[in-house]
Amino acid sequence: MTIPALQLYDTRRRAVRPFEPSEPGRVGMYTCGPTVYSPQHLGNMRSQLVPDLLRRVLLASGLAVTYVTNITDVGHLTSDADEGDDKVEAAALRASTSVEEITGRWTGQWATDRRRLGCLEPDLVPRASEHIGDQIAMVATLVERGLTYVIEDGVYFDVSAFPGYAEFAGIALDDLAATGRVRHLADKRHPADFALWKFSPGEGKRLQEWDSPWGVGFPGWHIECSAMAGRYLGEKIDIHTGGVDHIRVHHTNEIAQSECALDVHPWVSYWVHSEFLDLAGEKMSKSRGHVLVVDTLTERGIDPVAFRYFTFQAHYRQQQAFTFDAVAAAGTALRRLTHHAVAAREAVGGEDVRPSGGRAAELGTAFWAALCDDLNSPRALSIASTVTRDPELTAAERWALLADFDRALGFDLATASDPEDAWDVSADPAVAARLAERQAARAARDFAAADTIRDELAASGIEITDTPDGPRARRSST
Ligand code: AMP
Ligand code: ZN
Repeated sequence: MTIPALQLYDTRRRAVRPFEPSEPGRVGMYTCGPTVYSPQHLGNMRSQLVPDLLRRVLLASGLAVTYVTNITDVGHLTSDADEGDDKVEAAALRASTSVEEITGRWTGQWATDRRRLGCLEPDLVPRASEHIGDQIAMVATLVERGLTYVIEDGVYFDVSAFPGYAEFAGIALDDLAATGRVRHLADKRHPADFALWKFSPGEGKRLQEWDSPWGVGFPGWHIECSAMAGRYLGEKIDIHTGGVDHIRVHHTNEIAQSECALDVHPWVSYWVHSEFLDLAGEKMSKSRGHVLVVDTLTERGIDPVAFRYFTFQAHYRQQQAFTFDAVAAAGTALRRLTHHAVAAREAVGGEDVRPSGGRAAELGTAFWAALCDDLNSPRALSIASTVTRDPELTAAERWALLADFDRALGFDLATASDPEDAWDVSADPAVAARLAERQAARAARDFAAADTIRDELAASGIEITDTPDGPRARRSST
């Protein structure tokens, strides 16, 4: 299936633009990863699922994608205003344990839950604490260029040295200060100036600290992403993603320091920001105690991949409201899709069939056109659903289309088993007795009686399939 050119919304230019990698055929993509001091909740996972979909569309288009997402295991303070505790260090102290135990536990949860949600493995997962040298080198360049100043608690970036600092957020610099996301520390020259390197407090050693040309301390959170993205993707990045909450401070600061240290503009060609997952009318957030994780779904019998389906039911630039009922409904839709895909796959018997007929080609084109239209995943899912029931399609065409779509959707349809197998009720004594009666009727050539039994079972939501090993009864999901 030929995939049309991708159109993507870029936060910097505030417009949907045709996507063109800076080097033909290759894409460098970076996503701000988890701060590993507590579980990554389902909202955080939305900001992983969106780039996973984007990456899959790029791969399906034949591009070679290098996908990097970092682990923030130091430097992310409890306030965006360069104040407060380091989240990781505070969690270790609170639990009377080591930083390694905390970061190991929550990095593991993040990596496992990504897999449970069907995300492809990243090509690289650099940790901030293992890239201190790269961060110091970048700060040193900024210091040499006269773009910084040192105050009592650290080395700061002077935003007045970077004209257009506030352009990315689309608000005036002074209004940025007024958002409350940045604040005036005692000696900061401007509230928006931000820490590149923070000094360890004089009185005690921190659990994580390193020597630097300016004093013992630890890196600021923003410099981590710039340094690690630069190390693995080079001076220019094609796509940088994250949640919308990062636009005003974290990404604005990443741009300022990267463009100044690397002499590039624009540092990132396309900024892709995903909107929030809301719970009870508010952003799902650790600080508000709204923590629902993948395990919360499985405890209620919901397949984690149902959350992937649910996420794709909304456009990534729209807020999405979480309810268990909505995710369970997505699970039903996913089971239905899987059931039809497996039935078509088994009918074809592993043959490699390409969609040929007019209707199949039309649906295939419509699916990829939807995803290439700024990742219109709700439309793409509805086309996939049409494929499962369109009477004009043969089983071979249906399977060819769904297998092709699954390169982007990531539901693992090629190896999935029929979810209705799990609902096999052939062994239920009441059902087994009815099946035996039906077999007896058939043996006596009383087909009317056999059909009556089939109809009665169908009316109670049980479907009979005659297999070479005898009849099987399943609950129907359609
Ligand atoms: P953190 O671990 O706090 O650094 O956050 C990791 C990612 O999750 C960031 O890209 C955030 O923007 C994103 N994020 C946090 N809360 C939500 C939410 N409720 N919905 C969607 N994304 C979120
Ligand atoms: Zn970042």
